[in-house]
Amino acid sequence: MSLLAVGTVAIDSIETPYGKVERVVGGAATYIAWAASYFTDQIRIVSIIGEDFPEEELGLLKTRGVDTDGIHLVKGGKSFFWSGRYHNDMNSRDTLETQLNVLADFSPDLPSEYRKSKYLMLGNLTPSVQMTVLNQMEVRPDIIAMDTMNFWMDSAMDELLKVIKRVDILTINDEEARQLSGKQSLAKAARDILKMGPKYLIIKKGEHGALLFDNEQVFFAPALPLYDVFDPTGAGDTFAGGMMGYLSNKGELNFGNLKSAIIYGSAMASFCVEEFSINKIKSLSDRDIQKRLKMFIDLVQFDI
Ligand code: AMP
Repeated sequence: MSLLAVGTVAIDSIETPYGKVERVVGGAATYIAWAASYFTDQIRIVSIIGEDFPEEELGLLKTRGVDTDGIHLVKGGKSFFWSGRYHNDMNSRDTLETQLNVLADFSPDLPSEYRKSKYLMLGNLTPSVQMTVLNQMEVRPDIIAMDTMNFWMDSAMDELLKVIKRVDILTINDEEARQLSGKQSLAKAARDILKMGPKYLIIKKGEHGALLFDNEQVFFAPALPLYDVFDPTGAGDTFAGGMMGYLSNKGELNFGNLKSAIIYGSAMASFCVEEFSINKIKSLSDRDIQKRLKMFIDLVQFDI
């Protein structure tokens, strides 16, 4: 079933206590598509790149069955660029630089078959672009999920709130939930954010897992305690890709399916952080994923 993923396709430079990489492949849509490709085979990306984006990386996505025709290449342009440095705890980071480059003037015009996609993942990018995509959908997708970050809360809050109003699932991290709601307690933050429109809110807490809320229930998905967290970049997007890949396969959105979906998302994110950039999530087998899911089940199963 068709999953449309919108988000940055980017070049990143990353520094962690384990090392430094310059100008590697990144971007929200890149991580989302790779993660989702293990669960569903009709993925389409809408994004924009410059001539500096390595062409072979698009080829690799195509071999996974990802349709990249919706990635607009700007001749002579430069791709969205982000650089960040992680603190020793790997849970927090400083953005050193964000260069919007070709993203600054991005106004997508979706290919006609994309407009009928059944599932939509609005990955992190300019809220007005997320809105443009929503407005171009011919039929409302069965499931609309959205991710965003503090950068857009600081620079485009009004537009962001309009998008949030129209989605089924919102994923943000704990700091962003506090910023968006103005509440310190995550339970209170969730209650207030759910009033802004989404039916479900997922609050990501890095190495401390993720919380899923609707108006009545809450569920906790742990993160796997890993020996080495090499590079957390893209963990949130990989989580979203795993979650939406799973949901696209299941078809129906309800609290039970979302519980499983966020365990799938957490499992995919646990791979992502084990190597720099998309290196680890490019080379997984179904057996790797099944083994990892079993580790999650073992982590939280107990008798009373
Ligand atoms: P995450 O670690 O899940 O927040 O995702 C990191 C990825 O998001 C990197 O590959 C960046 O290229 C991309 N990114 C960083 N800042 C932004 C932004 N303001 N909007 C969209 N994508 C971003």
